[in-house]
Amino acid sequence: MINPATVINPVTGKHQAVRNIYCVARNYISHAAELGNSVPSEAVFFQKSITSLTTDRVVELPDSGMIHHELEIVVLIGQAGKNITSEKAWEHVAGIALGLDFTDRSAQQRLKERRLPWFWAKSFSNAAFVTSFEQFDEARWQQPFTLTVNDNDAQRGIMAEMVFPIPELLTRLSSRIPLVSGDLLFTGTPDGVGQITDGDRLGISLGNKQFATIMIKMTEH
Ligand code: ZN
Repeated sequence: MINPATVINPVTGKHQAVRNIYCVARNYISHAAELGNSVPSEAVFFQKSITSLTTDRVVELPDSGMIHHELEIVVLIGQAGKNITSEKAWEHVAGIALGLDFTDRSAQQRLKERRLPWFWAKSFSNAAFVTSFEQFDEARWQQPFTLTVNDNDAQRGIMAEMVFPIPELLTRLSSRIPLVSGDLLFTGTPDGVGQITDGDRLGISLGNKQFATIMIKMTEH
């Protein structure tokens, strides 16, 4: 089944169609280092297809290649804007969530070696998982966010460790690309990315609060 590509907007409480999925590469020094990449002097953006989106608790992924988990903070744009200033950036955000930017790392490696776009490695059914969105609360979101794989610690990040904080990302992105209500931004992954396999149970938390537990199902498609 093709996902309808909607999320619940925490401001309106209603379903909202997702319009674009933007992502940021190398926004944590620790993750850039683990893949042998330098930290960019300006934010590097890429996209996933909107039909990559899923909010399902069972996540079916392709049984080909090598799929890695990347745990990330995700923001939902509520108010459209162009040339958004960092002072006003949070006014454009309707909600914040945690998400998984599933990546076909073997495909990405092949593409990187040939200096080609990553789109093929980043877009496939269910490649963009998001938890439910909530309104941004600064103190709450300064807590560490974590991923466990089968109860083993896998990834841990803190918003304060972003190379480019969320307001700067929205300023940079909207200086070139007008943002619209329903856009999502995956804000980059901390270190600890790794391969997932069929039957893995992924636990996503913020501070002590469990956000979501998902099951991985690898299927041929
Ligand atoms: Zn990512």
